Amino acid sequence: MKVAVQGCCHGKLDEIYEQIKSFEEKKDIKVDLLLIGGDFQAIRNHHDLQCMAVPDKYKALGGFHRYYEGEKIAPVLTIVIGGNHEASNYMWELYYGGWLAPNIYYLGAAGCVRFNGLRIAGSSGICNKAHYHLGHFERIPYDRSSIRSIYHTRAYDILKLSLLSTSSLPIDIFMSHDWPNTIEQHGDIERLLKQKPWFKKDPDKGELGSPPLMKLLMSLKPKRWFSAHMHVKFRAVVRHEHDSTDNKQQQESHTQQKNGSSSEPTKESESSETHFLALDKCGEHRLSLEILGIEPAIASSHHDGLSYDTEWLAISRALHPNLSLLSTATRLPTPAVLSSKLKKEMKWVVENIGTHKRISDVQQFCRTAPGEGRSENAAWNGQPLWYTNPQTEAFCEMLKIENKVNPPPTEESVLGTPLRKQI
Ligand code: 5GP
Ligand code: MN
Repeated sequence: MKVAVQGCCHGKLDEIYEQIKSFEEKKDIKVDLLLIGGDFQAIRNHHDLQCMAVPDKYKALGGFHRYYEGEKIAPVLTIVIGGNHEASNYMWELYYGGWLAPNIYYLGAAGCVRFNGLRIAGSSGICNKAHYHLGHFERIPYDRSSIRSIYHTRAYDILKLSLLSTSSLPIDIFMSHDWPNTIEQHGDIERLLKQKPWFKKDPDKGELGSPPLMKLLMSLKPKRWFSAHMHVKFRAVVRHEHDSTDNKQQQESHTQQKNGSSSEPTKESESSETHFLALDKCGEHRLSLEILGIEPAIASSHHDGLSYDTEWLAISRALHPNLSLLSTATRLPTPAVLSSKLKKEMKWVVENIGTHKRISDVQQFCRTAPGEGRSENAAWNGQPLWYTNPQTEAFCEMLKIENKVNPPPTEESVLGTPLRKQI
């Protein structure tokens, strides 16, 4: 499979698709999938711009709204995670993941999906210790503080990712905007510091990148890890020491119930390295896009196209009661409690949803906010209303969980909070 990987996007979708097209023509191949590492800027209209944390001079609409409005169609399936410059209101609408535009799928604050058998997981945002343990409390209209904290990664979402068991079904690709902390020590750091001399004080103090992401890298041991954010290309290889206790808990509970894959555990030796690749932002250099041949570690004839990861659905159900919408620190369940819950939820998902549910059978793209060109798009320049996103409704309905993210307003709540809006 040919997978194109891009670092930050900064609203330059046209340029990225153009690069892919010229590569395809030159090499006479077809790219199957595009991965974008955040700072995607899914700006639907000028109100969304007011929800993105950037200095005013960078508040440009970008090219995304034409894809949102249907004027253009993404020529290749595109999977996106969030960074620190986003239409954070739109990303929050699709907290569990969903179509930002036709053929452009956002993985959510955290997520894991299958594409043609590839197991792809990702974490959105960047790390800031001050907000790591808080709930998802940010609401429209955002103030100067919440417009930033909204993209800070939360322990809750990292915990969900840490519960993915990889012994019988490895993660082929992990995507994060931020780099895993200390990853620079596993590559050519001298060269990196020559290119970015002002980074020096961070590696010296061990402060470059996100510590929770490095923990995930060490426990999930994905085959490949793609990052963005630092605007520089950098490769590294992390060699994992053999440790038979890794992922043991999940191994015990889920070996029998994988996503249509063989239940034979993968040999440890096969998952002993993570190949890390960070890419530059779009537009500055011709080589910002990388095209790689990647095959799933475990082939699965059942996963054609884009489908849900069964275990991820079970994790989403198991941890749903702990999703906090408050700013107070979130209390998370102990590993022992989680382990038995996960076992139960895995059974529920297999029985009620099945093991290869296509995403497009559940979630279909639909516009909530008007696109920039729409007449109902008001001329005022404030932050927008919030929307109940039917894709979030559909995801929650599939899992039979309450949509706490953007529930349709009741008559009472409409009276109490006039900013609420249902489509
Ligand atoms: P963004 O596009 O997210 O606003 O900015 C990314 C820029 O911030 C990059 O140019 C990168 O060099 C810089 N940056 C991001 N994280 C760090 C960090 O942890 N240390 C240093 N020194 N620079 C960083
Ligand atoms: Mn960034």
